[in-house]
Amino acid sequence: MPNTKNSILQKVSFSGINRKDIQLFIKREDLIHPEISGNKFRKLKYNLKQAQLENKNTLLTFGGAFSNHISATAFAGKLHGFKTIGVIRGDELGDDLEKTLQSNPTLRFAHECGMQFKFVSRTDYRKKASQEFIEQLKDVPIAIGMDDFYLVPEGGTNDLAIKGCEEILSEETENFDTICLAVGTGGTISGIINSAKPHQQVLGFPALKGDFLNDEINKYVHQTENWKLISEYHFGGYAKTSNELITFINQFKKETSIPLDPVYTGKLLFGLVDLINRDYFDEGAKILAIHTGGLQGIEGMNTILKRRNSLIIE
Ligand SMILES: *Cc1c(COP(=O)(O)O)cnc(C)c1O
Repeated sequence: MPNTKNSILQKVSFSGINRKDIQLFIKREDLIHPEISGNKFRKLKYNLKQAQLENKNTLLTFGGAFSNHISATAFAGKLHGFKTIGVIRGDELGDDLEKTLQSNPTLRFAHECGMQFKFVSRTDYRKKASQEFIEQLKDVPIAIGMDDFYLVPEGGTNDLAIKGCEEILSEETENFDTICLAVGTGGTISGIINSAKPHQQVLGFPALKGDFLNDEINKYVHQTENWKLISEYHFGGYAKTSNELITFINQFKKETSIPLDPVYTGKLLFGLVDLINRDYFDEGAKILAIHTGGLQGIEGMNTILKRRNSLIIE
């Protein structure tokens, strides 16, 4: 594993923030590794150890065609000597694999790391957590010449993933009042909630629509008082963007040299800056935003934006 111990804390000064009394720092988990960054490595760390303990030599997991988790699993597998299988949403992607790999940087990278794909229809993909679907997957490794697998759920969230994310906060982060981060499945925030100090409030910014997240997080956390979801900044849903968001991401990078991804961290910082300007925080608040990474997704998003003749991420 790359060294995840202490990613750097960077102070942010950004002209879009009107409150000069507030201190904003970003924990650069995106710098953990040049290609696979952020929370996905944290989530895999103890799962890989468990797979080794169980003597499994193959990891099987799920994801969409631009998934950070798919690329992280493929890379981590290569690094630690596991074969990897990605069950990918969208059976049409399997019709012409060469063409798919040419136009999709995430799958191309995973493929180069040695990941084998099984493309499934959206209907089947929805059933992926069911016992029946998983039973059926048992035949996949045999069909492509692999052994029994260790199953990592979609987005990598399970108890061991949360244990890994509990290591994101450290002594260095103890003097912040508020910890903010983007939320997808809720795994990363659960780890942070569990390891936050009693005086710290955790704010999650969901990158997607839906009310299920509070329940999801409650399955994993021991505390109910110290966290909250801010649900106003999903920009219409998962992987949905707008010119306003892209403009913000470009401006933020120009001024701070910190790249943000359009799916998670861009929405987080957009929302956080808006909350700061709307006086959500107390005088002199010290805020830490976690940069969970996801930068590998920019190229894929730009491909889509270019096709639509929209603004792209610079
Ligand atoms: C997956 C991901 C998240 C969301 O993490 P969850 O544990 O699923 O909530 C946030 N940011 C980035 C960059 C991610 O790749």
